[in-house]
Amino acid sequence: MPDDKKPKLHWKQAISKRIVWLERQPHSNSPKIQREIRRLKRKLIINPEGKNGKEEITHCPKGHPYTKANTYVRASGARVCKLCRKEGVAKRRAELKKLEKRLDGARA
Ligand SMILES: [Zn+2]
Repeated sequence: MPDDKKPKLHWKQAISKRIVWLERQPHSNSPKIQREIRRLKRKLIINPEGKNGKEEITHCPKGHPYTKANTYVRASGARVCKLCRKEGVAKRRAELKKLEKRLDGARA
């Protein structure tokens, strides 16, 4: 059967099929397969409000709130904390200054 005639499975159907297949394996009790099944099942869990886990996070990893003013949204949809981004820029700038100073010292 040519590939283009096969009906394409929705990714959720494909995952469900894989879970069933894994559970039927003779070694399905092995930790490796059990881990894979748990991982796939987690993928299938849907939030009833249609939100993914990320949207429920209200603070950045450093604890700054994800408010409209403090949040930058990348094209990919990932949220970036502006305070953290500023800190990152300042840190890199300070490191660059230190490096320049060291280079100047080497030249003198
Ligand atoms: Zn932050």
